[in-house]
Amino acid sequence: MDYPDHFDVIVIGGGHAGTEAALASARMGAHTLLLTHNIETLGQMSCNPAIGGIGKSHLVKEIDALDGAMARATDRGGIQFRILNARKGPAVRATRAQADRILYKAAIRDILENQPNLQLFQQAADDLIVEGERVRGVITQSGIRFRAKTVILTAGTFLGGVIHIGLDHYSGGRAGDPPSIRLAERLRELPLQVERLKTGTPPRIDARSVDFSVMQTQPGDTPTPVMSFIGSAADHPRQVNCFITHTNAQSHEIIREGLDRSPMYTGVIEGVGPRYCPSIEDKIHRFADKDQHQVFVEPEGLTTHELYPNGISTSLPFDIQLALVRSIRGFEQAHITRPGYAIEYDYFNPQGLKHTLETKTIAGLFFAGQINGTTGYEEAGAQGLLAGINAAAQALEKDSWYPRRDEAYIGVMVDDLITHGTSEPYRMFTSRAEYRLILREDNADLRLTEQGRKLGIVGDERWARFCAKREAIERETQRLRETWIQPRSDEAEQLADKLTSPMAREYSLADLVKRPELNYADVAGLKGEPAEDSQVAEQVEIQLKYSGYIDRQKDEIAQMQRQENTPLPADFDYDGVGGLSNELKAKLKQHLPETLAQASRIQGMTPAAISLLLVYLKKRQ
Ligand code: FAD
Repeated sequence: MDYPDHFDVIVIGGGHAGTEAALASARMGAHTLLLTHNIETLGQMSCNPAIGGIGKSHLVKEIDALDGAMARATDRGGIQFRILNARKGPAVRATRAQADRILYKAAIRDILENQPNLQLFQQAADDLIVEGERVRGVITQSGIRFRAKTVILTAGTFLGGVIHIGLDHYSGGRAGDPPSIRLAERLRELPLQVERLKTGTPPRIDARSVDFSVMQTQPGDTPTPVMSFIGSAADHPRQVNCFITHTNAQSHEIIREGLDRSPMYTGVIEGVGPRYCPSIEDKIHRFADKDQHQVFVEPEGLTTHELYPNGISTSLPFDIQLALVRSIRGFEQAHITRPGYAIEYDYFNPQGLKHTLETKTIAGLFFAGQINGTTGYEEAGAQGLLAGINAAAQALEKDSWYPRRDEAYIGVMVDDLITHGTSEPYRMFTSRAEYRLILREDNADLRLTEQGRKLGIVGDERWARFCAKREAIERETQRLRETWIQPRSDEAEQLADKLTSPMAREYSLADLVKRPELNYADVAGLKGEPAEDSQVAEQVEIQLKYSGYIDRQKDEIAQMQRQENTPLPADFDYDGVGGLSNELKAKLKQHLPETLAQASRIQGMTPAAISLLLVYLKKRQ
């Protein structure tokens, strides 16, 4: 049947990409349908119940700055919060939360169900309606035809999904869920470049069969960190500990004995796995000299005994998995509740996408999440948000939007994917961003919330709180700049023990905050009232302490911006550029960069080659 209502945007898939996509589209004001296999699995964490970590929390906070759901759901579902790299500089500091997977899912479902303009529908999408070179809608498993101006596909690991445990394999989207076979077949008929990747997950363990007394306890941080800019620790449920144990020589021997029945080492799996989240069999192969590997023992929730042993993802046969687990200290009597497995799935070469995440070949069709070759909830959620904004913008005839590399990690990720493609699951790291000092997790709201408000996706509550915070930062910075401390005054005396050299002249409070041996808390209350809001205090301190470096990066960005504004014509004659190597010419002809800045990001491109392009461009004019 033809469904009577027409939608602006249909999102296929209710995972991390799909939920953020549907919410963003609806916040933009587009009439949106979220079509997913099963409403009970909306926001399901397929693997580790944890959100954030290095590079990833930057994405979560950017989603939050644009009023997405992930950080708020994490605050409502998080059972342990820690700041990673706390002693390092603010650019690489990251928040990580262990989540109760049931609470997290419930929070996402609650946000979805209460979002105006958004409707949910449970059924598999089996086909796309494509007319000419434009998508017009979706056909479900039972033949319902939903029409829409734009469609966002976020099918995760489900397209042509094959699950492997040892040499056994069967079709599946993830354990317990059906794969998408019909849709995968249909997509292979369209002009899209399809390839295979794989990922894996460890066996889960019953906590009642584990001896925690021989493991190292890892508590959360105090005070408890918060993920959302508008969240608070009062949103968190009860907090719990995680634990650490290790594999050992015996564990590694067991794994080696099982390799002849490993789908990875017998060539049954062809897809490439995540380099930074490798299986345990991969780790003992790649790091053969190591006699132990860390295993983080993480609770899956407050109302379950299941544990996630982070670090022993495996697709070895079950008998080997059991022997391996029981060889680990504290797991000698362990009962496995779910076997570990690997999954192979279809993904699409992201070089076939525009920066808006619209496919280049089928107008109105957008891709987000794992199907673009990424791994991780955060990477998926961030792409979903961007695709949601742009699919809605197209349907509503508004301007498209995407952040630049100097504005957001979302911009870095999408630009990396589109420029370089990926042959292995792509995950975010702070090292991928060239302007790390500007793209911090703590200032994601200052970088993006105003843009989000202009797009229409930031609600009134967040906007009011953001404006108040921004004003408070300006006021407090101004106060510190204008408040002076005299040498030998009472205030100077209070600081004397902390100073590495005595105060020889008067200093403003701002100057004092910049000194390495002092921080905001030491200085702000010497005269006047310090900021009450810890987010304001943190911003004032970071902006003052790192102002020199931040200014230098701003200069670099301005220079890059000039390159960004220098277009390279599509008919640019790269063969005519003297001095350019044949390899670079071939790469440029393959990528056809639209601007000089895009050209500079092609692998192997050197500053000298960019100068040659510039000279040639000037000659042409
Ligand atoms: P998913 O979360 O997979 O969501 C896809 C959604 O689409 C599901 O709701 C599904 O039901 C729905 N769907 C699919 N096809 C259709 C259809 N035809 N019609 C309707 N609905 C459909 N990430 C890491 O960072 N590190 C890891 O080590 C890691 N290991 C993993 C191990 C396993 C076994 C799996 C399955 C995933 C793993 N992940 C890991 C990946 C992580 O789960 C994904 O990155 C993330 O969930 C991707 O989000 P997504 O929204 O793109 O897709």
